Amino acid sequence: MEFPLETEALVVMAPGAPFTLTPVVIDELRPDEVLVEMKYSGLCHTDLLVHKGALPILELPAIPGHEGAGIIRAIGSEVRDRSLSVGDYVLLSFTVCGKCAPCSEKRLTKCVAHTRLNFQSTRQSDGSTSARLRDGTPVRSQFFGQSSFARVSAVQEHCVVRCPYPDELALYSPMGCGFQTGAGTVLNILKPKEYHSIVIFGIGSVGCAALMAAAHLQLKQIVAVDIVDRKLNIARQLGATHTLNSSGVESVAEELRRITNGGPNFAVDSTGVPRVIEQMVGGLGFGGTAASIGAPPVGSKIQMDVASFFYANKNFLSIIEGDSYPPTFIPELIDLHRQGRFPIDKICKVYPIKDIDVAVAEMKAGEVIKPVLEWT
Ligand SMILES: [Zn+2]
Ligand SMILES: [Zn+2]
Repeated sequence: MEFPLETEALVVMAPGAPFTLTPVVIDELRPDEVLVEMKYSGLCHTDLLVHKGALPILELPAIPGHEGAGIIRAIGSEVRDRSLSVGDYVLLSFTVCGKCAPCSEKRLTKCVAHTRLNFQSTRQSDGSTSARLRDGTPVRSQFFGQSSFARVSAVQEHCVVRCPYPDELALYSPMGCGFQTGAGTVLNILKPKEYHSIVIFGIGSVGCAALMAAAHLQLKQIVAVDIVDRKLNIARQLGATHTLNSSGVESVAEELRRITNGGPNFAVDSTGVPRVIEQMVGGLGFGGTAASIGAPPVGSKIQMDVASFFYANKNFLSIIEGDSYPPTFIPELIDLHRQGRFPIDKICKVYPIKDIDVAVAEMKAGEVIKPVLEWT
């Protein structure tokens, strides 16, 4: 491909400004970057935080999108994965520094630069941006290393995972964030046994992925909690043994103790809502483990009865991106789907990119769990 390359992207120019396709220019491909032509991108709540301008580290204008799937169009001269070729179909996940101790141990979600790199959305080498507007204004264009709400993007090499199923790119695009976050939490960290109970708060794509993983492990009790009945119906279809609409429930913790006969062994919060996190930790059973896996608002606090937490021998974890190592975990999830044990097709709906506002509205209303945008 010839540079400078003109393409288009859903650039967020100002907080809350409507999503509009805007021409952007990529001047060059750096040695550690891969040029990807997007075919699909999942829509995640974190993209809406970019749209609201709610991520202080991410200056606007910026291009959201962090569940990209597409085709490699060029490869930088120093990209370390020599097995990648132009024309490969790929899924995109988060980025890392590739140099720190956790990175060298393949504990990628523990990369010391994880938060800065994924949210700052600039190049690792010099902090520049890989894209600009026609008038020269820099655009933050490596959100999670990829900014996949662009027709073509120069992505950081660490994001790229090859996808051997070109026909399933749409369905597999959310593997890079939402699906691996929920499923990885259950399969990589909590590792519950069949005789355990789990409560999942928030039945969005992350909560659904956690639920599907729990159903795959055939847990005795899987309790789905949300405030939208439509989502709880989906939870039942995905294997929830109990559902709880928590709106109007006086004590959610008490209700969960009743359902699970003393409190669950495991609980996962995908909402990031501080009050829900309090309910999760408060309602946990003796020796239980709670995991916070949805981003809470910056600066928010929770209250906790630390004495009862201590005497009940509880655990409370923060788990980022399901603690997954995408190059091996995403293929594992794809295999599970192909065996019929990770039925993501029940929750995905594809929209043409121009209909992003419809996709956002339907996701917010709980009509669709995981919208996937298609570059038509
Ligand atoms: Zn690192
Ligand atoms: Zn996400």
